[in-house]
Amino acid sequence: MSAKIQAPRGTFDVLPEQAAARAGLEAAARKVLERAGYGRIETPTFEATELFARGVGESTDVVQKEMYTFDDGGGRSITLRPEVTAPICRAYVEHGMHKSAQPVRLWYLSSCFRHEAPQAGRYRQFWQVGAEAIGSEDPAVDAELVLLLAELLDDLGVGGLRLRISSLGGPDTRAAYREDLQRHLREHADALAPEVRERLELNPLRAWDSSHGGTQAVMATAPRLLDRLDGEDAEHFAEVRALLDGAELDYDIDPTLVRGLDYYTRTVFEFESSALGAQSGVGGGGRYDGLVAALGGPETPGCGWAAGIERMLLAAERPPTAPAPVDLFVAYAAPVHRRAAFRVATEARQAGLGAQLELAGRSLKGQLKQADRVGARFVAILGDDGAALKDMESGEQEDVAAAAIVPGVLRGRGGFGL
Ligand code: AMP
Repeated sequence: MSAKIQAPRGTFDVLPEQAAARAGLEAAARKVLERAGYGRIETPTFEATELFARGVGESTDVVQKEMYTFDDGGGRSITLRPEVTAPICRAYVEHGMHKSAQPVRLWYLSSCFRHEAPQAGRYRQFWQVGAEAIGSEDPAVDAELVLLLAELLDDLGVGGLRLRISSLGGPDTRAAYREDLQRHLREHADALAPEVRERLELNPLRAWDSSHGGTQAVMATAPRLLDRLDGEDAEHFAEVRALLDGAELDYDIDPTLVRGLDYYTRTVFEFESSALGAQSGVGGGGRYDGLVAALGGPETPGCGWAAGIERMLLAAERPPTAPAPVDLFVAYAAPVHRRAAFRVATEARQAGLGAQLELAGRSLKGQLKQADRVGARFVAILGDDGAALKDMESGEQEDVAAAAIVPGVLRGRGGFGL
């Protein structure tokens, strides 16, 4: 026998029972986002590597360690998307969307690929649902986006939520801050975790994410970016907070919140759930006012978020289910009635009903059990004396002609009985 081949580490198959919950989540996201004017976008699974190097940032963990990058056989370096914001901004520029009414509001549900150490809630291929509003600086855009993610998480019953927000200010504030933080870290280099020390020159802000005791002690006395926002950035952040307060959404201002991607400016936020383990981030995002220009487009502000499908489903108390309803299960008393049953099932589907036919050669009793298991609303039983139609909700059963089954179900589905 040949050796079994398994799915690559950190990946998973979506089986039908999980697909139903994922479809339900997609429907919930569509409802929340399309109601707010977001249109769905789909970008390619792979992009030019340059897009992420420039967009996400050369110094980030994602670009340095986590991308699946390869030569496409024609000498071009391509990368499986590790995130979707940079691809969407690329599409915004490529399709001249700056000429449309601003902001352009887009949402997506896409697979992402990151070469990370797999663990619960952390995979190498995972799915994100996300929203981006490109072309407006208005703090209402930031607040609206936060509220839309809060609404989605609430719809799914994601428990134990905590929202942290902060502001990173503009690029000048951030550049000056970066130098000051580096100075502070260099002064205390001996106390830092080796990986923080190594990344001190390239990405000092990541020191805020460290769980290393010595590093945390150094960070307790480190300068904070939030204390240094200039007038306009501080005003912008105050307005975002006022709008969230007006919507009565609870949040914590967390000056230590830095996100892993380089493009963020001003508002950043993250939702965590205590229902998750170590990987507690369910979704987050922020403003990226320099990204479109960095990708060769006009100076254009933008803001957005992404939330992990698998983590939302892990933390959801009301996992959405959207199995296709089975309006009719077609059973038969003996094999001789199989063709007639097949005809009824086909006719039912042609009439737009969800219909399943017995396919496993079960006894009539077994078929009725199966009908119950799949949650069928009606069961038709074809036998020697014609057919019977049973309403599984009321338990009522009637003898009918085979030709009357589908019209009967169509009438009865409205809840008016047979
Ligand atoms: P990020 O793009 O890093 O801000 O991530 C946004 C969201 O995507 C996170 O809050 C997670 O829910 C999800 N996510 C990120 N990386 C992974 C991963 N490796 N596996 C599963 N979900 C992930």
